[in-house]
Amino acid sequence: MPHDRAAMPALFVGHGNPMHAITESAYSHGWRDLAGRLPTPRAIVAVSAHWYTQGTAVTTSARPRTIHDFGGFPRALHEVQYPAPGDPELARRIIELGRPVRITGTDEWGLDHGTWSVLVHMYPSAAVPVVQLSMDARLPAAAHYALGQRLGALRDDGVLVLGSGNVVHNLGLADWQPEAPARSWATEFQTFVRRQVEAGDDQPLIDYTGLGEAAQLSVPTAEHYLPLLYVLGLRRPGERASTCLDSVDLGSIGMLCVAVGL
Ligand code: ZN
Repeated sequence: MPHDRAAMPALFVGHGNPMHAITESAYSHGWRDLAGRLPTPRAIVAVSAHWYTQGTAVTTSARPRTIHDFGGFPRALHEVQYPAPGDPELARRIIELGRPVRITGTDEWGLDHGTWSVLVHMYPSAAVPVVQLSMDARLPAAAHYALGQRLGALRDDGVLVLGSGNVVHNLGLADWQPEAPARSWATEFQTFVRRQVEAGDDQPLIDYTGLGEAAQLSVPTAEHYLPLLYVLGLRRPGERASTCLDSVDLGSIGMLCVAVGL
């Protein structure tokens, strides 16, 4: 189908500490800046690290609820609401595009903090409809990348695919002191990811489990890393991708963002 406008870029953001939702920082400013550089999306499909399931699901509610999927944070964070509408028709389209992967519609999930902690800064009016897509924990990395590829047509319809996780995410080795220095392996792996993205060479990023110690420490569990693969799968041949916010928070949380087509 011909289109008279450029495809919507696709974004991966490192969300990190949920407190970024209610804090002004280089990250909140960076996310706002990204939104300012994008055309306003017709809708958003969010792939969040915090919806990691058996099987793949998509939210079908017209009014997805704000989920506070964390504990031990201040009341102000628990009181955040992100009342963006859902988009049941878009959810149905995602189910079609995903085939032969079986995607199940559900209204049992809403918008989790991987999604809203970033969107409160990018689109504070919550006017753009948001659908969440879960990640099937049973699938290999290559299957997540391939599912991202299948969603490519959405970019031509003004839909923003937003992956939200962290390329480096090791909470067990986090340092909660202010201005904690980055762990050397965290910087090493995040730099590796950035260079692969800039070079357009995704295969080593799909095969990340074989990359050695820095990768193992940076990705001790897959759920924060995998949203990146959906976004990389959306890159078209020869298409530009840029990166931003190449820093490490709390010593072991990589905040790199990747913008495909921007
Ligand atoms: Zn997270």
